[in-house]
Amino acid sequence: MKKVYLDNAATTPLAEHVITEMVKAMKNFGNPSSTHSFGQEAKILIENVRRKVADYLRVSPAEIIFTSCGTESNNMIIKSCVRNLGVTRIITSPIEHKCVAETVTEMKTRDNVEVVYLRPDNKGDIDLQQLEQMLKSSDAKTLVSLMHANNEIGNLIDLKQVAAICKENNALFHSDTVQSMAHIDLDFSEIPVDFASCSAHKFHGPKGSGFAFIRKSSGLKALITGGPQERSLRAGTENVAGIVGLGAAMELAMDNLKEYSAHITEIKDYAVTKIAEVVPGVKFNGRSMEKDRSLYTVLSVLLPFKDPLIGMKLDMQGIAISQGSACSSGASKPSMVMLMLLDDEELNSTTPLRVSFSHLTTKEEIDFLADALKKISESYKIETVNS
Ligand code: PLP
Repeated sequence: MKKVYLDNAATTPLAEHVITEMVKAMKNFGNPSSTHSFGQEAKILIENVRRKVADYLRVSPAEIIFTSCGTESNNMIIKSCVRNLGVTRIITSPIEHKCVAETVTEMKTRDNVEVVYLRPDNKGDIDLQQLEQMLKSSDAKTLVSLMHANNEIGNLIDLKQVAAICKENNALFHSDTVQSMAHIDLDFSEIPVDFASCSAHKFHGPKGSGFAFIRKSSGLKALITGGPQERSLRAGTENVAGIVGLGAAMELAMDNLKEYSAHITEIKDYAVTKIAEVVPGVKFNGRSMEKDRSLYTVLSVLLPFKDPLIGMKLDMQGIAISQGSACSSGASKPSMVMLMLLDDEELNSTTPLRVSFSHLTTKEEIDFLADALKKISESYKIETVNS
């Protein structure tokens, strides 16, 4: 059966070059903490990646802390801000990834932190004036945690503007950059963000490998203790092959950024046109249609009929797609993002689909998806309107 993968926001296939580099690194079995040559060879591999990543982000290598994933990075940042930096208030949004949302809730229930949610509008946008007002309304030591690119609808926040507002108001700023890292050129020498996160499997790197960007001046402390690794900010023997894989994937992504983003943008435009052609009445959620306000890898589709089994139906035809984020796609209730964007009538009469692309996605694959959606749509006897 033909198989089409359109769930790249959940994860991406490993690049062949990344596998090659990881296999080479796996043969280098020394413990990077050992002082003998075996250990030091492994250590050099890690430090080379740290320098490379730091160069891409225009930061110091000491500000890159390798972790096991985006979830760990976000947990570490938020928890340490509360426990070690004296944060007593967190301003965030209800449409953050679960690894941020649940960590913030834990800070509220276990650590008595005040949590303020900025309510997004029906396009999924955060009101920056509301953020400013919130920041000015209290002297509490505050952490603002807002994701750069939303994993379900692709909406982007203006990272530089939010960071500037936080700086002006003496608040710390954490952005979950898991979906945008290595897809957008992030220059942290220009964007005064304090903390950010990365996960290699979102850009053709391995699962179980990520990093936290921690601004040197911030004073954050370790979540995982028990050793001096990662400048005592993350104990545990390093995942050398995973880190090498992250570095190789980031290099591929950044060296080909222009070409990949141009291709994916063209694919996204093509998908919008094709889907609108075959599914009359279809809508696109959030800022999907606005190039500068939406991540080019994600398209959030709103089908004009209710079909809770659509993911399964497409899967049976060989099409891998998600109905929301990977962690909630199996759930029958609407995601928090859709609850924010849609009214009750829309929630009861429509089906959201997240189509997410990579540089490997082809127009032929989009045609395949469009054919499948056309058949499903026709089964709902939706009248075709030729426009
Ligand atoms: N943050 C966002 C926005 C994500 O999309 C994801 C993964 O889907 C994560 C965090 C978690 O990353 P990881 O899978 O590396 O734990």
